[in-house]
Amino acid sequence: MPLLDTTAIRADFPVFEDRGLHFLDSAASSQKPRQVIEAMADFAAHGYANVNRGAYRLSVSATERYEAVRDKVAAFLGAGSSDEIVFVRGATTGINLLAHGWGSLRLRPDDRIIVTEMEHHANLVPWQMLARRTGARLEFIPLGEDHRLDLSGLDRLIDEDTKIVAVTGMSNVLGTIPPLDVILAAAREVGAFSIVDGAQLVPHQPVDVSTLGADALVFSAHKMCGPTGIGVLWARPERLEELEPIEYGGDMISTVTRYTATWAPIPQRFEAGTPPIIEAIGLGAAIDYVEKIGRQAIADHDTELTRYALDALGDVPELRIHGPVDTESRGGVISFTMADIHPHDLATILDQHGVAVRAGHHCAKPLLEILEVPATARASFYLYNTTEDIDALVEALRDAGEIFGVI
Ligand code: PMP
Repeated sequence: MPLLDTTAIRADFPVFEDRGLHFLDSAASSQKPRQVIEAMADFAAHGYANVNRGAYRLSVSATERYEAVRDKVAAFLGAGSSDEIVFVRGATTGINLLAHGWGSLRLRPDDRIIVTEMEHHANLVPWQMLARRTGARLEFIPLGEDHRLDLSGLDRLIDEDTKIVAVTGMSNVLGTIPPLDVILAAAREVGAFSIVDGAQLVPHQPVDVSTLGADALVFSAHKMCGPTGIGVLWARPERLEELEPIEYGGDMISTVTRYTATWAPIPQRFEAGTPPIIEAIGLGAAIDYVEKIGRQAIADHDTELTRYALDALGDVPELRIHGPVDTESRGGVISFTMADIHPHDLATILDQHGVAVRAGHHCAKPLLEILEVPATARASFYLYNTTEDIDALVEALRDAGEIFGVI
């Protein structure tokens, strides 16, 4: 049974004052606890000023608080130094920064970029565009029959020509967690720049970059109880040294003359313009919140809910799960279809039961092509979900099946 005290946790989330809400869409974006909302509101009301600029106390203290969040993120990820933490708009921006600021300058025709067949568009389209710009080839670690990656051809895929290996930490469609250790070791062996898209992984499991074996990791605050508009790029210092800024302007320079400029030290050189200051405070509060509950406890809670849901959904007639049907190496994201009911119709009926799920292609169109479905419905769990939420989902699905005459 779920391990977290969900009664206490739910009391922290104002959205759950609506007792009829069964929110099962945290893979898209999580709900926000009072602690995060209040930290941001309090800072905006009493602590706010632009950072890095003012000599006055309010700006100095805002700068200190902004930088303290960088320290907090570094500790949260097990980074060697706060200088390894770059604030970005989100996972998408982090990946684009790497593709432009590293890939564009270093890739040559026929170099290889390796991704998997289960990437979110955020970890696919930037590499497609990089391949187009440089003449590099984009290749895919294939999905196996069991909705896990087929690593049998890894040696052939990741070779001396491979310059970038970018892989999701957890599929936002299937819930599959790939064997990152094996893939990242293969990338390391050939000196490729290895990148983990941690958008789904970091909010749900302990991730320690000192043992992960990747060169870079990105994630977004909004899927981890934090606000939209801020995320993190962590990279090893050697890789950050190789990275060129892709945005230019205020705050990222050291000196500027009429025709030239030099860059500020890392990581400031990657943070042009006024940063998301209030959002950074929110990210800090979100980390505090998640750490207080415990990332392993959250992961265990997810696993228990997933086990319960896979069992319960397995009994719903005409329901097909697209993803691993055991809890081995998977997270709390379950995609499904029901007979030939369109997932949007399904989601609409579920909504009438207060059950909020996502329906669509989940920004992973090539993966859905492999699954041979145009769309799925997707339920995803987080620290505030309960078995009652899953019971409500199952009941709503049975109702939908009856309404559409498939069960
Ligand atoms: N990667 C994965 C696996 C995701 O699920 C998402 C968000 N759905 C992203 C990247 C992109 O995150 P963001 O939209 O916050 O940049």
